[in-house]
Amino acid sequence: MIIGLPKETKDNEFRVGMSPGTVHTLTNQGHLVRVQTGAGIGSAFSDDDYRSAGADIVFNADDAWSAQLVVKVKEPTEPEYRYLRQELILFTYLHLASNKSLVDVLLATGTTGIAYETVQTASGELPLLAPMSEVAGRMATQIGATYLLKTSGGRGILMSGVPGVAPANVVILGAGIVGANAARVAVGMGAQVTVLDVNHNRLKYLDDIYRGQLLTRMSDGLNIRELVFQADLVIGAILIPGGRAPWLITKEMLADMRKGSVIVDVAVDQGGCVETTHPTTHSHPVYEVDGVLHYCVTNMPGAVPRTSTFALNNQTATYVVKLANEGLNAVRQERTLQHGLNTYRGYVTHPAVAEAFGLTY
Ligand code: NAD
Repeated sequence: MIIGLPKETKDNEFRVGMSPGTVHTLTNQGHLVRVQTGAGIGSAFSDDDYRSAGADIVFNADDAWSAQLVVKVKEPTEPEYRYLRQELILFTYLHLASNKSLVDVLLATGTTGIAYETVQTASGELPLLAPMSEVAGRMATQIGATYLLKTSGGRGILMSGVPGVAPANVVILGAGIVGANAARVAVGMGAQVTVLDVNHNRLKYLDDIYRGQLLTRMSDGLNIRELVFQADLVIGAILIPGGRAPWLITKEMLADMRKGSVIVDVAVDQGGCVETTHPTTHSHPVYEVDGVLHYCVTNMPGAVPRTSTFALNNQTATYVVKLANEGLNAVRQERTLQHGLNTYRGYVTHPAVAEAFGLTY
């Protein structure tokens, strides 16, 4: 099969759909891969890296998009809509529930759209979303530590403390993938860490593996108030699948938080778990409310594109190879990939996307 790898066009997107390693696996199996020149540059992969992996470097987007299977990171932007067509299989993050214009063009052109974010295993896991939560979780602590510096506007606290001086007090709301990864880095940095969740099994898991190196508490209104008021750094890491995140920290609570403390609300892409959260960008990541710094960047992994590209490829490569080898039969045969099918020949084929727009599927 001919597989295309265009350069991402979304603002500040430096990841790339395939690493040279994934391309090498494909060319080794006899596939032709067309990589648009410069596609990997934001993730520090040169054209020569792709050439060595057996790819053809093409000099414009049209040539990469003319392939049968196109692998990307982000949804097509408007200038890319003209490449969509019935013979195309597009494998990327699509996030269609919040993008009616893209749904319309995918349906009008009959494109087969397979969305990373809805690929789902039998046990309900979302294997192509998880790697970005791992990245964002680990980053959240690192970023929080930076904004706790006085020079960054924070309270002036060193995460680890020093002998005779207490470490930073870190409170993590949510013990899922983001929360567990944030906790891992915070414990590693020597902070005092408390993780809250409504799911006892998640707390039990962290309690078992950390053996006293962190504290776990059930997430209820009283516990949240008590802990957040003593925190230097709060990390918002909750998810209600398919729903908006509830406000666990209200505007009124900020007045009782420590001045110069930091909130990193990773859950911002689901509306955030703090009433005063609003989305920010890598160019302007923080703002202050009531003396509390808020970091609410919606695409945190975009700041570490090389790590993120590898992390994403580690999970997507298997499916890319299956699609290249078997075409749409891969979707027919494998239930996990079937969940990823969002549009096909002019129909919406995912219930959540159909429901979002009142369409039949
Ligand atoms: P997850 O499903 O693995 O974990 C979410 C956890 O939240 C679960 O353990 C759940 O029990 C817990 N939870 C639900 N309600 C709660 C409550 N009231 N109090 C405490 N815990 C509660 O999800 P995840 O992969 O860790 O993702 C967490 C959030 O991070 C999501 O909103 C996700 O979209 C977001 N995210 C953002 C970025 C970014 O760049 N900003 C990147 C990746 C993920």
